[in-house]
Amino acid sequence: METFDLLVVGGGIHGAAVARDAAGRGFKVMLAEKGDYACATSSASSKLIHGGLRYLEHLEIHLVRESLAERAELLKAAPHLVTPAKFLLPIYAWQERGAWLVRSGLALYDLLSFGDGLGASGRLSANEVAGLPRLRQDNLSAVLHYNDCQTDDARLTLSVALDARARGADILNRRAVTAIAPLDNGYGVEIDERGTKRRVETRFIVNAAGPFVAEVDALTDACPAPQELRLVRGSHIVLPMPDPPEKFAYTLQDEGERIVFVMPWLDGRYLIVGTTDVPHEGSLADVQCSSEEKSYLIHAYNRYFRSPDRPITERNVVFTWSGVRALHGGAELRPSRISRSPSLASCAQGSGGFVTVYGGKLTTHRLLAEDVLTMLETLGLEVRSPWTKNVPVYGGALDRQALLARAEPGPATVPPETRRRWALTYGDQIEALYARVGADPAAAKDIAAGVPAAELEHAAEIEDAVTAEDFLLRRTKLQLLLDEAGQDAVREWFAMA
Ligand SMILES: Cc1cc2nc3c(=O)[nH]c(=O)nc-3n(C[C@H](O)[C@H](O)[C@H](O)COP(=O)(O)OP(=O)(O)OC[C@H]3O[C@@H](n4cnc5c(N)ncnc54)[C@H](O)[C@@H]3O)c2cc1C
Repeated sequence: METFDLLVVGGGIHGAAVARDAAGRGFKVMLAEKGDYACATSSASSKLIHGGLRYLEHLEIHLVRESLAERAELLKAAPHLVTPAKFLLPIYAWQERGAWLVRSGLALYDLLSFGDGLGASGRLSANEVAGLPRLRQDNLSAVLHYNDCQTDDARLTLSVALDARARGADILNRRAVTAIAPLDNGYGVEIDERGTKRRVETRFIVNAAGPFVAEVDALTDACPAPQELRLVRGSHIVLPMPDPPEKFAYTLQDEGERIVFVMPWLDGRYLIVGTTDVPHEGSLADVQCSSEEKSYLIHAYNRYFRSPDRPITERNVVFTWSGVRALHGGAELRPSRISRSPSLASCAQGSGGFVTVYGGKLTTHRLLAEDVLTMLETLGLEVRSPWTKNVPVYGGALDRQALLARAEPGPATVPPETRRRWALTYGDQIEALYARVGADPAAAKDIAAGVPAAELEHAAEIEDAVTAEDFLLRRTKLQLLLDEAGQDAVREWFAMA
């Protein structure tokens, strides 16, 4: 039977980060993901790499400082996937937090992120405010601005997972962990490999199953004592970019301390509006944006933005997504008040052991992985020093400028807009796509407009995409960029593959 030092359950950002860190420290690692990588919370976030301005209000200074340091780190480690964005913060007379309070928060945010090159916060001039296309101006006392970063959460997860694979980890999607039995020094684990049962042994297990943590812990009694868990759903809606377009993202203060982000997305073709914060009840198999959440987000948008003809309604919503946070504790707190700091629980099993991950942020995944490795050390694993700081993830070796320059000259058969999209999706792995096109003229043939066969082959062979949805929604965002015929052509390709 095959044996591993570490089996990671879950291919979201945390599982991927733990597998990468452990593989880089020389351990024999397997990661089993029951669906597709990032198919749960890690593709359903607000897609921000941020300090989390509002956590300052809850005095979570440590979390904000760490997150801002990781933001700077990720700008270098994943330059193809992390983009600076200017956020506007309008202040109205009716809001609970006044301009002075928000300005103090922004000053602290600047201080905690000093030196990362993103620039300081400030206030828009009256002329700049007047030039904003549709922000409501009644009772508007100021518009402040600050910088944060946006990302593609699913691709970031994939890049970390592929990095783990490049360092020797066995990274597998569509493999569910279905049984865990304690052994003298570790665990015997049953994995459902697309219908076939496979058994492996491992000294350590890390349960990084996100909202499914309790389900995975329940596979054995030899796991950490259960902790209080709050499942909190957050949803986003997507609107077509209005005309004239919004150039900036907005951080809007809504009622009851809520914050709603409105952010340009996909090269300014869409606006994301989110998020909600509601207790999640019922199945985790198909987490959906409820009609109440949709109405709340539409109401929040209309409250801040004029629309020339009539207010935005549900008919304008072109897409939604929802994710569930597995937060630790705080039964008495409102969902928005529960800390986003991750928490770990552990137990020993002979010379092996089990670690369960609760909560956390996309932004701080690298640090969480270091903490998990430290916890494994306390359980008896002899670990080498941390190594991931300043090391690019898979695809992240070229900075943004170099990448865009690399997209300029390319195979003549691939149009410039596809080459640009490839650079900002695949990073330095654009070379692998160019090589495919160069090696086989058939690979240059478009399956859908601007989507050569080479890209689908790369997704299936290198990035483990199995279904059209894996490709259209998580490897790329082409579901929102291709017309129906184009999407159908991609579906047909996967059906035939
Ligand atoms: C609405 C919302 C907005 C957010 N916005 C941000 C943001 O802007 N910035 C930020 O930094 N953070 C944000 N977060 C937090 C961040 O998205 C999460 O902390 C992070 O994605 C959680 O990752 P994870 O790996 O722990 O869980 P997940 O991504 O949920 O991954 C767990 C994986 O485990 C798999 N799994 C479950 N059971 C099994 C099994 N038996 N066998 C094998 N695999 C299994 C699942 O299929 C799943 O893919 C947000 C969260 C939410 C909900």
